[in-house]
Amino acid sequence: METLNLSYWEKANFYTTDVLIVGSGIVGLNAAIAIRKQQPNVGVTVLDRGFLPAGASTKNAGFACFGSISELIEQEKFCGTDGLHELINKRWKGLQKLRSLVGDDRLDLQINGGFELFKSDQFALSDECVSKISHFNNLVQDITTENNAFEIATRKINSFGFNGIDCLIENNLEGQLDPGKMIKALIEIATSLGVTILNNCTVNHFEQDHQILVSTSQGDFRTKKLLFCTNAFANLLMPQLALKPGRGQVLITKPIENLKLKGTFHYDKGYYYFRNVNNRVLVGRGRNLDFFTEETHQFGETPLVQNTLLRLLKDVILPDVTFEIDQKWSGIMAFGP
Ligand SMILES: Cc1cc2nc3c(=O)[nH]c(=O)nc-3n(C[C@H](O)[C@H](O)[C@H](O)COP(=O)(O)OP(=O)(O)OC[C@H]3O[C@@H](n4cnc5c(N)ncnc54)[C@H](O)[C@@H]3O)c2cc1C
Repeated sequence: METLNLSYWEKANFYTTDVLIVGSGIVGLNAAIAIRKQQPNVGVTVLDRGFLPAGASTKNAGFACFGSISELIEQEKFCGTDGLHELINKRWKGLQKLRSLVGDDRLDLQINGGFELFKSDQFALSDECVSKISHFNNLVQDITTENNAFEIATRKINSFGFNGIDCLIENNLEGQLDPGKMIKALIEIATSLGVTILNNCTVNHFEQDHQILVSTSQGDFRTKKLLFCTNAFANLLMPQLALKPGRGQVLITKPIENLKLKGTFHYDKGYYYFRNVNNRVLVGRGRNLDFFTEETHQFGETPLVQNTLLRLLKDVILPDVTFEIDQKWSGIMAFGP
């Protein structure tokens, strides 16, 4: 601690708090906001190891979705129809809460529809998904108050300009947002409620006495309550958690003149996704190509995934269009029961 040259004032005001939240992603910031709204006198401090949040919340694709049909079919096998209904309800209510907290303009939320694509050789899967449309429309009706959330949209394939796609199912409630704007707004809301957010501060260890002592790269904090909102990184501090990290690689094109596609798109059972971002196309995922390598806490890109994403752009998404890649990045998310 001595080497940090902390003053009495710094220790008392920055290093001692009522609630310490580790992680300033969407979960950590929402937790901080909720606590201060309910108990304005409770001191809340959020720590993040990154200069910006360094996990998934500012690296993601910005799909405001509650599941494509093939994903819902798989999920229903695990949790049953009632469990799936509850899960969709949580996803839907979470999105509505986010919208009312931040506001659609600040999120840059656009409800352009979400589409699941089926390749020419996926007729068995597309048949199964089409046969389940009315089942899932019934399931989400009381949650969303929409009677026909899902419908066949194969007629739109040509207008989007896709190649090798035979069937399209649309979810007309699905939207897209700007995750950077979302986190910026959540930081502003949290700060305006009196939350202290400190960056470049990695939590290494914690132990409980009459208070909780939290050792970090910036010295020791004392707190009454400690919340871990560290998602994929949680089991680095709590190895007993059954969590596995999964890296998601993303790339985005430079602006494309007269870009035809608009919306959020789920491809190959959700192993790939893409969307328009202004006049660009963002495409990502491909973890299925090499689950072993992508089960990592390290950011980075691999030629295998990047080349596959590029091929998907060239062969299926933008077959007759000249485009250039502008940026590549990755984010880390958590998987587990
Ligand atoms: C590439 C990608 C695309 C995605 N696309 C979508 C999408 O389109 N739609 C959607 O709904 N979801 C998407 N997701 C998932 C979504 O982004 C995550 O579910 C969500 O952001 C998780 O938020 P979080 O706050 O729990 O975790 P994170 O945002 O990961 O926040 C955890 C924070 O904890 C910090 N942290 C970790 N360990 C420590 C430590 N020891 N000390 C201090 N700080 C620490 C990290 O720096 C990080 O900022 C995507 C995820 C990825 C990776």
